[in-house]
Amino acid sequence: MTFPFFFTWTAQRDAQPIEIASGEGARFRDGLGQEWLDLGALSYQANLGHGHPQVTAALVKQARSLSLAPPNAVFPAKIDLARALLELSPRGFSKVFFTLSGSEANENAMKIARLSTGRHKFVSRYRSYHGASFGALSLTGDYRRPPLEPVLAGVLRVGDDAADIEAVLDAEGPEIAAVFLEPVPGANGVHVPPPDYFARVRAACDRHGVLLVMDEVLCGFGRTGSCFGFEHWGIVPDMITCAKGLTGGYAPLGAVLVHQRLAAQFDQRVLWAGLTAYAHPLGCAAGLAAVNAYRSENLFGRAAEFASPMRQLLETVAAGSAVATAVRSIGLLGAIDLDLSRAGWERLGAELHRRHIHCHVYPRRGSIVVSPPLVIERQELAAGIGLIGEAISAAVSG
Ligand code: PLP
Repeated sequence: MTFPFFFTWTAQRDAQPIEIASGEGARFRDGLGQEWLDLGALSYQANLGHGHPQVTAALVKQARSLSLAPPNAVFPAKIDLARALLELSPRGFSKVFFTLSGSEANENAMKIARLSTGRHKFVSRYRSYHGASFGALSLTGDYRRPPLEPVLAGVLRVGDDAADIEAVLDAEGPEIAAVFLEPVPGANGVHVPPPDYFARVRAACDRHGVLLVMDEVLCGFGRTGSCFGFEHWGIVPDMITCAKGLTGGYAPLGAVLVHQRLAAQFDQRVLWAGLTAYAHPLGCAAGLAAVNAYRSENLFGRAAEFASPMRQLLETVAAGSAVATAVRSIGLLGAIDLDLSRAGWERLGAELHRRHIHCHVYPRRGSIVVSPPLVIERQELAAGIGLIGEAISAAVSG
């Protein structure tokens, strides 16, 4: 069947549509009524799982009372969500800039960084994804950028070591506005930086007056076992970008959380940024209900508790497979590297499909990534990762 819309990041004839009809907790049902176990949190946004009653109720309530608002509107969900996000941020964060997506959050963080430093360059890692719009894509290091070159000039991309960032800041520091980093490059294979990584990056940024922006679009809201991923390294960034888990995927919303030392500059100066759907009421209502649910269900703590069982389950799968070459994980974000041929990866996709397991299969990066909703039950996680192991075996022997 052909559809009258584009599928993303694929030749249209190779698209693999999934008809998703409904869901509850860590499971969703397809159009044929078959139940799938969601070990990917869809595209890493479904941290709260499917069919969350409080979030859907908040959306309905907001739609009934106020679902249209201009960017300069003031209404309770917008104020309460901004306050809640600043409470989750490190001390000193004082303002929120709302967007509709993670890409736009990074776009606007780039603008704020340029305006507040008066510098024009940025640093990011090759092993990264920061979004599909041109600014965010310019920061992106992975394979999705080259087909769209030339992108924004002045983005310096570096390797995985803190020394790589130190070197580029030593060389070009006075021209660099900000360094953009995911705490853990998620979709690029869950490469967890060493314990001293962010302290070294922070120190280098401070030496050169460069801002540090943490892209928490994928890691934020509990994925790594703390609200934000950078908390594991004990540093304080200058800005935090987020989306996905911010609403658990229940409405499109992103945000840039900004430290007071930058935010205060815009008391007098114009903030050259804006969007028609800035802080849309439905996004704000979903975000507020999501933040409340993370708190009341202790989901960040739950992800931290599940870190070790998840690691063991992934290790068990890897130990049972001759093609598994490495396991990495933090919180409820884990990867297994697999040495498979192109046909082997295709068979793996089909075997997972047959078992109704959704997780992220990345042949280009040679890994599968597991990122279940934070509400997943222990038995579901064990059963699901067991099925991944079976699918790998079947793909190898097939
Ligand atoms: N940053 C990171 C780390 C992401 O993983 C993504 C999306 O996958 C983005 C930014 C872009 O977010 P969005 O797709 O909402 O624009």
